[in-house]
Amino acid sequence: MKTVDARLIQGVLSGDRRYLAKALTLIESTGDTDEEARGALLETLVPHAGSSYRIGFTGAPGVGKSTLIEAVGNEWIGRGKKVAVLAVDPSSARSGGSILGDKLRMPNLARSESAFVRPSPSGTTRGGIAPRTRESIIACEAAGYDVVIVESVGVGQAEFTLASVVDLFVLLLMPNAGDDVQAVKRGIMEMAHIYVVTKTDVDSRAANMAQAAIHSVHSLMRPVTDGWATRVLATSATTMNGIAEFVDVCTQFFSTCGEAVERERKRQSGLWFDDLVREEILRRWFARPSMHDMNETLRERVMNGSLSVPEACRLLLTHQ
Ligand code: GDP
Repeated sequence: MKTVDARLIQGVLSGDRRYLAKALTLIESTGDTDEEARGALLETLVPHAGSSYRIGFTGAPGVGKSTLIEAVGNEWIGRGKKVAVLAVDPSSARSGGSILGDKLRMPNLARSESAFVRPSPSGTTRGGIAPRTRESIIACEAAGYDVVIVESVGVGQAEFTLASVVDLFVLLLMPNAGDDVQAVKRGIMEMAHIYVVTKTDVDSRAANMAQAAIHSVHSLMRPVTDGWATRVLATSATTMNGIAEFVDVCTQFFSTCGEAVERERKRQSGLWFDDLVREEILRRWFARPSMHDMNETLRERVMNGSLSVPEACRLLLTHQ
C-alpha cells in the first residue's frame, strides 16, 4: 500500500486544523491518482477514530440549522469539548469554492480554537451531504474532536444518507410551517432521536402548539433506538433558550444508549463497505479507455430508439 506523507498524518493526529483541512481535501478528491493515498490515509487514521458523538442535523432550508449548530457548538466548547462541523454550504456553490463560505457561515464558531468548520459546496453533495462524509468524520475524530456535527439540507434522500453516518439524528421544525406534516409524509419523522422546534422567540404560543402536535404524532411511532424515548425540545438561538438543555439531552442519549450506538455503528460499517465496493467497481469499470465512449454511444442509441435498454446494457457489460 502507498504511504502517505508522514507530516500529514502527524499533523492530523496532533489536532492541527490546517492538516485536518488538507486531509479532508484528499478524502474529498475525486482524482484517480489520489485513490491509493486516500486509502492509506484512512487506514492510518481509523485506529485513532470512533470516540466522538456523531450528530446529524437536518431540516428545511431557513429552519435555523446553522444558527442552532453555532449556538450548541459554542455551548459544548464552553463545557471543554472540541467540535467539528461538516456542513453543506449553499453560498460556496455560488462562489465556486468553499473558502469564502468558510468565513461567512457560523463565524463565531469558526473563530474558536476548539472548533473546525468545514463547508462542502452544495454542488458537490449528493442529496444534501457530501459523498465522503463517513471518511471525513473519521479524520475529525482522529484529530481529537469530541463532537462531530453533520449538517444536511433536507432535500432528496439526504436524511436517509445522513442517518447512515451518524449516531444521533436531530430534526429541526419551524412552528406553523407545516414542516411536521412534510416530515411525516416523507418518513423522516420516525428517524429522529430529537425534534427541535426552532425560533421560539418569534411566537412562543405557536412553538408550544407545535411541540404538543409533534408529541402526539411521534407517540404513535416505534422508538428509533431501543431504550430511547424521542424528545421534543424547543430552542431560540436568539435568546439562547433551550440550548443548554439540548446539549444535556444529547449527552444523556450517549450515556444511556452506548450499546445501541455500537450496534448501529457496526451496521453502518456494513453499509460503508457496500458503498465503497460499488463505487470502486464503477470507477474501475469506467476507467477502461474505451468504456466511456461505448457507454455514450449505447446511451445515445437507447435515447433515439434504435436499441432497447436491456440489449444496450448487455452489450455494454460484454464489451471487451
Ligand atoms: P438554515 O438554512 O436552516 O441553516 O437556517 P439559518 O440558520 O441560516 O437561519 C435562517 C434565518 O433564521 C436566519 O436569518 C437566522 O438569523 C434566523 N434564525 C435562526 N434561528 C433563529 C432563532 O432562534 N430566532 C430567530 N428570531 N431567528 C432565527
